[in-house]
Amino acid sequence: MRICADLHTHTIASTHAYSTITENCVWAKKNGIKAIAMTDHCGIMPDSAHIWHFENLRILPRVIEGTIVLKGVEANIINREGELDIPKSSLKLLEWVNISMHAETSPKGEPLEIAKTYINAMKNYPEADIISHPTTDNFYCDYETLVKGALMYEKIIEINESSVIAKRSSEKNVCELLKICKKYNAPVAVNTDSHFCQLIGKTSSALKIIEECEFPESLVINSDWEKFREFILKKRPGMDI
Ligand SMILES: [Zn+2]
Ligand SMILES: [Zn+2]
Repeated sequence: MRICADLHTHTIASTHAYSTITENCVWAKKNGIKAIAMTDHCGIMPDSAHIWHFENLRILPRVIEGTIVLKGVEANIINREGELDIPKSSLKLLEWVNISMHAETSPKGEPLEIAKTYINAMKNYPEADIISHPTTDNFYCDYETLVKGALMYEKIIEINESSVIAKRSSEKNVCELLKICKKYNAPVAVNTDSHFCQLIGKTSSALKIIEECEFPESLVINSDWEKFREFILKKRPGMDI
């Protein structure tokens, strides 16, 4: 199995990432990736991009250096009510919305409390597409509750390569989450969360776990371009991809 679209990537607009959108697109093509979502940090995350970054993304062409670009964001859940740190008016302009919890921005809690917080965010934000890295130890949550909520609100669960590489302990969480996604037929996406262009599309550690867990390829939404296209067009009819 391989991925054809990397739906979580950063540019220098998040200053702890080191490549431009053009460099990311060049390397996506080199690494055999058809499309990337440009999902920089926003709002209250330290060193995130200014809101103008997100509101002006429409000026970028659909295809850069042969790679399709989805204009997106990685937004933070900032309270138990599941509120995000980006106005809805800005979210409506975007084409791909990752929602995340980070130590710098999001309330910690018991596993069930965290899962319920994710669900509040999914419920409040039809614009959101994917729950990013719910497998970090910091925000370990009740996966049964999370996955049932993701199905109800038609969100994808992310399997995040960077989290697996950064902390071996998250491997255990990924396995547990995959098992539950498999049980409920919940779709996942495997993304890099790349902070440097050469890493775009490189998901060998996450894919290895997927293989070991015998997780079905049919549930990996970005393993096939038509499958992914169908998902995004259902939500954003008329999009030119
Ligand atoms: Zn993140
Ligand atoms: Zn990220």
